Amino acid sequence: MTTNQSPLPTQLQTVRARLAAACHACGRAAGEVTLLAVSKTVSPEVVEQAFEAGQSAFGENYIQEGVEKIIQLRHLPIEWHCIGPIQSNKTRLVAEHFDWVQTLDRLKIAQRLSEQRPFGLPPLQVCIQVNVDGGNTKSGVSPDEALALAQGVAALPNLRLRGLMSIPEPASDFVAACALFARVKAVFDELNAQGLALDTLSMGMSADLEAAIHSGSTMVRVGTAIFGERPAIKSGLAH
Ligand SMILES: *Cc1c(COP(=O)(O)O)cnc(C)c1O
Repeated sequence: MTTNQSPLPTQLQTVRARLAAACHACGRAAGEVTLLAVSKTVSPEVVEQAFEAGQSAFGENYIQEGVEKIIQLRHLPIEWHCIGPIQSNKTRLVAEHFDWVQTLDRLKIAQRLSEQRPFGLPPLQVCIQVNVDGGNTKSGVSPDEALALAQGVAALPNLRLRGLMSIPEPASDFVAACALFARVKAVFDELNAQGLALDTLSMGMSADLEAAIHSGSTMVRVGTAIFGERPAIKSGLAH
């Protein structure tokens, strides 16, 4: 538990300053990197406080929890990103409520999301999750599978393919983290060379956002550094 945490607006400012410094350090403009506030386990009231402090994009891992917050906060023009695994029986909820999905790794899920996206809503903005450090129990496609899935997703009418997302294993230091992020960037560059016009590379979290930005990230997903430590995961919490 963090007991001596600064007020939320201060924490947000500190994270924005880290983003700006990381951009500056590698010669990028601060506006090139979007801050996604990861609000899993955070109450709607606190999300609203963050919104009032100027944060407008939020990411949720657990579909049910996210949808409840989206409904409760529908009076606010928040952009909601689904950043957790999606089972087939949850695609309708996701298609009806979220603006973005960053965790696509199966064409079947993409097809369901496209079919279930309600008429009248803009296309669902999507990223394909890429797994660059092996571990075939993990979510995400291997770099080899990314192009075929990207082409399949790009052909779906109610999805708009924006880019790639990755959650590499925590690395021991900056250089090791950059090496993993560079593998994701290489896949991103390869897909663009194949004509896919991707503009979003979602990588980097509280602990490694500097390395991610150095390696070409355009979106960092930050929870702890904004909202403080999360409580231990409740066993009943559905993904
Ligand atoms: C929880 C989570 C984050 C944020 O992690 P922090 O270390 O709290 O910044 C980012 N991305 C995903 C997919 C997550 O599940």
